[in-house]
Amino acid sequence: MTENTKKPLLRIEKIVKTFGPVRAVDDVSIDIMENEFFALLGPSGCGKTTLLRMLAGFEVPTSGAILLSGSDITRLPPEKRPLNLMFQSYALFPHMTVRQNLNYGLEMEGLDKSEIRRRVDETLAATDLTTFAERKPDQLSGGQKQRVALARALVKRPKLLLLDEPLGALDKKLREKMQLELKRLQHEAGITFVIVTHDQEEALVMADRMAILRDGKLLQVGSPEEIYERPNDRFVANFIGIMNFIEGTIEAGGHFVADGYRLAIGATRAPGAAVLAIRPENISLSPDGDGLKGTIADIAYHGLDRVLHVRSPASAQPILVRVPAGDGHKFQAGQTVSLIFNPDKCRLF
Ligand code: ATP
Repeated sequence: MTENTKKPLLRIEKIVKTFGPVRAVDDVSIDIMENEFFALLGPSGCGKTTLLRMLAGFEVPTSGAILLSGSDITRLPPEKRPLNLMFQSYALFPHMTVRQNLNYGLEMEGLDKSEIRRRVDETLAATDLTTFAERKPDQLSGGQKQRVALARALVKRPKLLLLDEPLGALDKKLREKMQLELKRLQHEAGITFVIVTHDQEEALVMADRMAILRDGKLLQVGSPEEIYERPNDRFVANFIGIMNFIEGTIEAGGHFVADGYRLAIGATRAPGAAVLAIRPENISLSPDGDGLKGTIADIAYHGLDRVLHVRSPASAQPILVRVPAGDGHKFQAGQTVSLIFNPDKCRLF
């Protein structure tokens, strides 16, 4: 589905939440679309959990409004909201089997037995839990428990599922598997997911769009690709992926100049000091010495590729340059190299 045909399911309008002097969420507005996998991302303390708790109804905003399918739910208690929240701690009932854990919410809704059976079977199948239906939580692995928690949230068919660091308790390998699984389940169930995470990689892999928050403020909203390719803020650029920052000046005519390297980037900015941001994969090495001069300080092995750490007066930190593993043998520490930036991939801050 393209962006244009989607409707906003959730509208977050100018939300402010203060705790005493702390502005935990500071004037945040976001539209989240139907069927979207949306991630709230930011460093510890940026306000993402507080925002999620307001969506769930556990906190009331200091000001602003939350609309779900056009109705104002800002002050509606949690149990009256057509949404579900999945916590990091799975909160499964330990004395009940997997099936009973799933039945529970539907029994509370007063559905009849055959309907409960049908929906639970369907959800167990979708989450690959059919063979574990009669086990209790302590007879399951961490990843399986996590799937039960998810199944329990999905079986109620909420319009919106809020997930607070759902993969936080899992080890790296399982996390990566579950990231793809969650995305598949979200897609198949056709439910809007809003997930809180502090893990950039996780947001990039799973989300259709994401919001980057810092100190309660919304810095950028966009698809992973938009945010990775066109960060509109220096913090975002550095927070998502790896970014080099090169100190230089803009010259009349749109050139960026750093330590003698002149790069035509068609900058529309006024001449003066500027910082150019470029990712390691967008720098190539020039054999004819026609780029930014530097000295290799270190070479790090990263499986499929090598990352050269290159020292240059134009950057306080070593400039990181990604080269294919096959080219790795061409370089050694101490060597002088010349760096060429892809002008289309440069950002100015
Ligand atoms: P983390 O990733 O560490 O969970 P977060 O981005 O989810 O962080 P929040 O938990 O939303 O951040 O907190 C945002 C800010 O609001 C922090 O400065 C936090 O100390 C503050 N805060 C959150 N809840 C309360 C509260 N109940 N009383 C006072 N301050 C709070």
